[in-house]
Amino acid sequence: MEIVNKKKKNLHSLIIIALLSAAVLIGFFLLTTNFAFVGKKSIHEDAGTYKTRHCLAFYPDSRQGLSYAKELCKGQKEDVIYDYTLVPYGDYYLVSYGGEKKYFADREFGPLKIEEVSDEGKRIILDYLRYTFKKDHPEKYYDAAFLSSLQLENIDFSAVTYSIDKESLLAYLPQYEMSVAIPLKYMQKQIGMNFGFPDELYRKPIYLDPDPAHPIVCLTFDDGPQFNYDPGYSSSEKIVDVLYKYDACGTFYIIGNMLQNREIWADYQVYTLLKRSINQGNEYGSHTQSHLYALTEISGKENIRKEIEDPVAYLDDFMGYRMNTFRPVEGSFNNEVLESTSLPAVLWDVDSEDWLSRDVDAIQAQVLKYDYESGDIILFHDIYDETAEALEKILIELVDRGCQLVSVSEMFRFYNLDPSQIDYFYSPGYYE
Ligand SMILES: [Zn+2]
Repeated sequence: MEIVNKKKKNLHSLIIIALLSAAVLIGFFLLTTNFAFVGKKSIHEDAGTYKTRHCLAFYPDSRQGLSYAKELCKGQKEDVIYDYTLVPYGDYYLVSYGGEKKYFADREFGPLKIEEVSDEGKRIILDYLRYTFKKDHPEKYYDAAFLSSLQLENIDFSAVTYSIDKESLLAYLPQYEMSVAIPLKYMQKQIGMNFGFPDELYRKPIYLDPDPAHPIVCLTFDDGPQFNYDPGYSSSEKIVDVLYKYDACGTFYIIGNMLQNREIWADYQVYTLLKRSINQGNEYGSHTQSHLYALTEISGKENIRKEIEDPVAYLDDFMGYRMNTFRPVEGSFNNEVLESTSLPAVLWDVDSEDWLSRDVDAIQAQVLKYDYESGDIILFHDIYDETAEALEKILIELVDRGCQLVSVSEMFRFYNLDPSQIDYFYSPGYYE
């Protein structure tokens, strides 16, 4: 009997000690964090349930957090306590500890390794490389020879190293001793990963912050798009290519019938060209559906509205792109035209006269005889091979003069103009 009682007493003491220890531990957890992570469930299982999870980590050295993250949940109570936060991003976690350092880890808490970047991803890296030069080394950027050397084929991608920091992909290009940061929302597909960012039509960053120290000039191209079913050979496509070579953007005022009058099988080619063009920062606007009449010759606001806005509806339906300015045929408009649509009419102050001369030298001389300042808009037509050919020399010269060649909407943004509040836009300067 005595032996039994002793055993019971021992058992009672053990239970009391255990309860006290538990109370101390629970109190400690409550003091140190909002909700404690206890037990052997894996971190990611719990983080998945709670979206954001503070984790009490038992490990002696937080500096090596990534490789030890897996160990965190094993809870050796003699170890030091660290506080980790895990935020799910698509297939990965953003891990922070000490309230500061952040890095991405996969579901197994392994480091993220970027093996491959798609061709489109490489173009995005190139865009950001130019952007970084523009911001940090303008003396190099406004040099057409240097700028035109920054091309895909000249970049040694095998030497590029990648890492991921918060919401950016960092690409280090040893060739230029430069690191560029690209928002992950643009790069997740390009590196074969999913961070849960919604799909967004990529646009290059180059003119998101125009530099007031350099003239902001718009190149506009009317009457296209011109398609030739041999890829690479239409004047519209050549213009898109040469703009890209010099990191310039333009606004294309397209005619609805030019866009729509094609065989069904050409849809993919048309889509590909427009998407590439938009991705590289170019803009599209309406130059009416038929281009047959000046808008001032059409009677009735509804008829005028349809003539201006039918291409807008078509392109929106075709590829989810919304045009938000228009160019009136021959530049003719009156109050009735302006009242018929909410889109602003965009005019020009320099006419390349490409339609008149159809001559490469004459187009170059006509455009380059002016000094440019911010707000100038140059009119071209992308349906002529002569225009496409003349454009390269024009771009070289304008870049060397320090011009930023932007789309109309980027220029509006620079002037803090809301397109929906504008009826029509003439450049501040006007050349005879
Ligand atoms: Zn026209």
